[in-house]
Amino acid sequence: MIAELICVGTELLMGQVLNTNAYFIAKELAPSGVDMYHQIVVGDNPKRLTEAVETALSRADVVLLSGGLGPTDDDLTKETVAKALGKELVLFDDEWEKLVFWFTSKGRTIAPNNKKQAMFPADAIILPNPNGTAPGCIMEANGKAAVLMPGPPRELQPMFKNHVLPWLLEKAGRRLYSREVRIFGMGESDVTYRLDDLIKNQTNPTIAPYAKTGEVTLRVTARCQNDNEGEALVAPMIETIKSTLGNVVYDTNGRELAEVCHHALIESGKTIAVSESCTGGRLADAFINYPGSSAYFIEGDVTYSNDAKMRRLGVKAETLDNVGAVSEECAREMAEGTRKAAGTDFALSTTGYAGPDGGEPGKPVGTVFIALASKDGTIVKRLNLFGDRDRIRHSAMLNALDLLRRNLCTK
Ligand code: AMP
Ligand code: MG
Repeated sequence: MIAELICVGTELLMGQVLNTNAYFIAKELAPSGVDMYHQIVVGDNPKRLTEAVETALSRADVVLLSGGLGPTDDDLTKETVAKALGKELVLFDDEWEKLVFWFTSKGRTIAPNNKKQAMFPADAIILPNPNGTAPGCIMEANGKAAVLMPGPPRELQPMFKNHVLPWLLEKAGRRLYSREVRIFGMGESDVTYRLDDLIKNQTNPTIAPYAKTGEVTLRVTARCQNDNEGEALVAPMIETIKSTLGNVVYDTNGRELAEVCHHALIESGKTIAVSESCTGGRLADAFINYPGSSAYFIEGDVTYSNDAKMRRLGVKAETLDNVGAVSEECAREMAEGTRKAAGTDFALSTTGYAGPDGGEPGKPVGTVFIALASKDGTIVKRLNLFGDRDRIRHSAMLNALDLLRRNLCTK
């Protein structure tokens, strides 16, 4: 199926507004299997818009339009497209009532020229717009269709995702099937560099990377007839990604790091306790967030002061005197003390400088030590994190989870 996009608005031609709708729609359409060979930008002018619509209809099955659905005289997309398709506009009473309600509930009076926003061809499909006054619509004629959407991106984007894309896929007899590969411990540029060949040659399925604090996600999407076919297309690609990137891949079904740890702990029947300094409870929260965590989560201590580290966890005074609380030794003693006190299989600890002030020579803000104690001994890792206080604390928590994950999931 071929779609063509027409963005309507003189402001786009004048450089007053960046055409982000074209970017958004093209990006959403790319993995869908609906082809787009042309895009047109045209001003609010009935003659030139009519020409654009006729041109687009001559070479595409579906013409997508953005803009020109407002109440003012220069908003003429609906009238022009209807005319090009040989359709009359009639008032839709229920749409008019919704519009009246929209205005009165905001204490505003509705102007007579708003009436045109409730007018559509009698056989149009209405696309609801919960974020504004102008509903979109689909007009079909002679085996072709025009899809009209409002210009403001915050109105267009949800309408496209929730109504237009599903309608297009259904019409094309297509489905999208996707899985998310979650990665921790490798930056986005490194991930995309290693997968360069795969990303360059992608057709079906496609790979879309995106990053958030400390993590990278790859969404692998296949165009298909059904889920079985989708899985058959996606699975080999995911295997290739896993074998290329190795152990930094912690899940292939879009689960959070904490969720992966949660399930691994439940399946292994092992228990855990945590002691936290700079993460201040985030690690405990990451587990307790999931129902059923009582099966393995025994306790969490927020031992922020040196005194608490000694009194509650048995960290040695000389450790704190000699190397300080932000040290490999302190992290080790915290984890070992916690494991002993709680009688658990595992204990995790965190201690570090979250900033913005503080740090010491050789240990700037962002220096964090994490430790994992188990029957096999204690692993301590030094992290050199960056960002503001929140980001450092969040990264420290994720790194501690990843340390546990690597230990749990390889055994
Ligand atoms: P309209 O629906 O034509 O009245 O457009 C209303 C507003 O939406 C315009 O003033 C722009 O700010 C914005 N807009 C319209 N078309 C686009 C577009 N293609 N990309 C981004 N913003 C747009
Ligand atoms: Mg406009």
